[in-house]
Amino acid sequence: MAAHTKIKPSQPMVNGFDGAEMNSLPARTQDQIRRREDLLGPGYRLFYKNPVEIVRGQGTLLFDADGHDYLDVYNNVASVGHCHPRVVDAVSRQLATLNTNTRYLQESILTYSRDLLDTLPRELAHVMFTCTGSEANDLAMRVARYATGNEGVIVTSGAYHGLTADVSSFSPSLGVGVPLGQNVRMITAPDNRRFGSGQGIVEHLRQEVRAAIADLARHGIGVAAFIADSIFSSDGIFSDPAGFLQPIIEEVHAAGGLYIADEVQPGFGRTGDAWWGFQRHGIVPDIMTTGKPMGNGIPVAAAVFRPELLEEFGRNIRYFNTYGGNSVSIAAAQATLDVMRDEDLMGNARRVGDYMLENIRTLSARYEQVAEVRGAGLFIGVDIVNDRTSNVPDGDSALAIVNAMRDRRVLISASGPEGNTLKVRPPLPFSIADADRLLENMEIVMKAVLR
Ligand code: PMP
Repeated sequence: MAAHTKIKPSQPMVNGFDGAEMNSLPARTQDQIRRREDLLGPGYRLFYKNPVEIVRGQGTLLFDADGHDYLDVYNNVASVGHCHPRVVDAVSRQLATLNTNTRYLQESILTYSRDLLDTLPRELAHVMFTCTGSEANDLAMRVARYATGNEGVIVTSGAYHGLTADVSSFSPSLGVGVPLGQNVRMITAPDNRRFGSGQGIVEHLRQEVRAAIADLARHGIGVAAFIADSIFSSDGIFSDPAGFLQPIIEEVHAAGGLYIADEVQPGFGRTGDAWWGFQRHGIVPDIMTTGKPMGNGIPVAAAVFRPELLEEFGRNIRYFNTYGGNSVSIAAAQATLDVMRDEDLMGNARRVGDYMLENIRTLSARYEQVAEVRGAGLFIGVDIVNDRTSNVPDGDSALAIVNAMRDRRVLISASGPEGNTLKVRPPLPFSIADADRLLENMEIVMKAVLR
């Protein structure tokens, strides 16, 4: 049996279990953690000081083996709610009928592709299917390099785009254990508390991206693409001021590069104001990628392109992804999209998101340690600092809140390079009653943890 000292990772993850309190955990939890490490090795990370074992999910709730419910304020993958009956039914029926790949004609992939493209600006008109967001970003960057003839990549300093060899080389949030590629340059995250709101942040970003382009050029490297998560989830969640991406895209285009919008996190209506996060900034990407929320948990992801980018690439490079766009994944994606439309989950994200934003602001206004509450729709970040004057990030207090909420069976997490931004990102059908349960517990926990 592995000694639990092996668990402590040298590259910790925000809100990752680190084994420090192993001995105080229930015997069953300790046993499972040890067997996990024995069987799966040291690469995996669990959430929370006291990891949660769940056996069932329904809507916005998760249940443990004793039948206790946890309010899920974190999972964007179960986008239309855990085990939504329409998705379960569509997947089950398809699995019992046919599950095969894109080498055969199937009407369902055409219907879905039409529906998906109808949610997008018409410039984005070809969709290619993958199994994961990482694969979608890998393909997007391959196409960007092919189309531009350039190799350089610009990302934000806390970005995460995925786990392939190439994509992890432009995912700085993985930490120093994963070196950045030689062709990769970072710009600061659009943090308007640090760099000024309004024009301040806009000008700052323009200067940053100009410097990145100039540095690449000085090394003889042209820009293939700027890739950004449209809500900057791992950078700390930045949504405002709307439009701040525009100058970056102008500069990147002027340098001959493309803009890839990574919609794995904000896409499919989560921001409440549009289907896609980039739409908030009044821009149209050259390539868009998506994944997580697309199939309500069934692996399905996609990259969507301006057709001219694929012309030569598609002629010269054969694309076959065995599981990408398989019949069951497409059935899941179709049912998920249908539910999103039929249940107006984008509207729900806006209404419940606004309600939460307002009420989290109200309840945290009295704490010197809450510097800002921000976000769009059902994607909210709460910055925890030492005090509002010094503004020094306080990741420890943020984690204390996350873990105290977990002990009260309300699951949130934290994000950002210092881990000091509370991350509130529930499934899209989150109701006002769910929001009230979150708010009641947040009030109790903040009172106990914060000054
Ligand atoms: N991009 C972003 C913004 C993500 O958050 C993630 C996953 N956390 C990915 C890409 C990679 O997606 P996947 O895990 O499906 O490969």
